[in-house]
Amino acid sequence: MNLPVLADLDNVDGARILARLDLNAPVRDGVILDDTRIVAALPTLRWLTERAEIVAACSHLGKAGGAPDPAFSLAPVAVALEKALGRPVRFIPDCLDTANDAEPGTLLLLENLRFHPGEKANDPDFAARLAEPYDHYVNDAFGTAHRAHASVEAAARIYPRGRKAAGFLMEREVAALDRVVDDPAQPFVAVVGGAKVSTKTAPLEALVGRVSSLLIGGGMANTFFLAQGLEVGRSLVEEEMVETARSVLDAAVERGIEFVLPSDVVITDAIDNPQQVDVVASDTIPSDMMVVDIGPEARARYREVLSLSRTVFWNGPMGVFEVADFAAGTLAVAEALAESPAFTVVGGGESVMAVRQAGVIGDIDHVSTGGGASLQFITGESMPAIAALES
Ligand code: ADP
Ligand code: MG
Repeated sequence: MNLPVLADLDNVDGARILARLDLNAPVRDGVILDDTRIVAALPTLRWLTERAEIVAACSHLGKAGGAPDPAFSLAPVAVALEKALGRPVRFIPDCLDTANDAEPGTLLLLENLRFHPGEKANDPDFAARLAEPYDHYVNDAFGTAHRAHASVEAAARIYPRGRKAAGFLMEREVAALDRVVDDPAQPFVAVVGGAKVSTKTAPLEALVGRVSSLLIGGGMANTFFLAQGLEVGRSLVEEEMVETARSVLDAAVERGIEFVLPSDVVITDAIDNPQQVDVVASDTIPSDMMVVDIGPEARARYREVLSLSRTVFWNGPMGVFEVADFAAGTLAVAEALAESPAFTVVGGGESVMAVRQAGVIGDIDHVSTGGGASLQFITGESMPAIAALES
């Protein structure tokens, strides 16, 4: 791993440090609904604040559109951070401001980076102004590592080696995902589900070339069924992705990998307030029903394949797991990963929720904090933030 880590920073003691974190917590009316990301940032923040003169933490939050918007203020996060760390946090209402009168050991939290248009535009002038007061740069925001935004890309490039590093979270993410991308222990099995093929085309294409088995579930399986000439009734499908699905199927045959679609499926007449729920073979889906989960035969098969694997990457639920009647396939995959002796990695917002719901989060080797970022990492494509840290 060429990634510089905290231990590689020169002269941290007494330094002024800009720390790009992922503090993008869901906030409604000033209340933090889920503090997972705040908690995840604490180890790096503790390490930095114990050593540095000043740490300026920065982040984006929500869909701020390049101008100040109180709905997306990080002010509530400052309060939560103060509580979690047990030390004062001084909130700076514009990320381009700093505190020149700060006591040594001060932790600043800068306001939402996306209140400035330069952040998303990866504007070098904005990055230079953001970085100017600080000697060192630390990036622990894995969730935005796949985006070329100023605070993670242009800003990182300003600092020479020895003065920039990945935080603990970023280091852990990269190490775990590297184990999956770079010469994974075989058999390497990927389980890919979720709503759509279109949001996961590149990862599917990349995985076909690397896995020994690819297990498909979720709404995206329907588009693969169409590509095989099956009928899927009123199921969620992406007609415009059938060609893509067909080429993924062809690539799987060419590579000689095991490409597994569910042999049976759970069907229903309606996701909300269902009157009819049934299990049918995947080649007999009635025209007035929709597929909402993988069936029991598929569950058993997926469990079997996973029990024999040595590396597993899972992204995307097997069905509409938010509804208890349609959660069995997703929970079975979560349990199979937990029981598997393989090195197991889970990425994706809903997949992580499912692992938590199954109560097995502690039995997964790595649960990624970045859905989109982990998917891009899996493709083997360069990640702008990581490349900038490594430059
Ligand atoms: P992740 O966040 O883990 O990457 P996605 O965002 O791709 O996953 O997809 C998650 C969503 O897919 C879930 O909300 C789930 O309800 C939905 N989904 C899964 N299977 C189906 C299906 N058969 N029909 C419709 N929606 C589905
Ligand atoms: Mg999602």
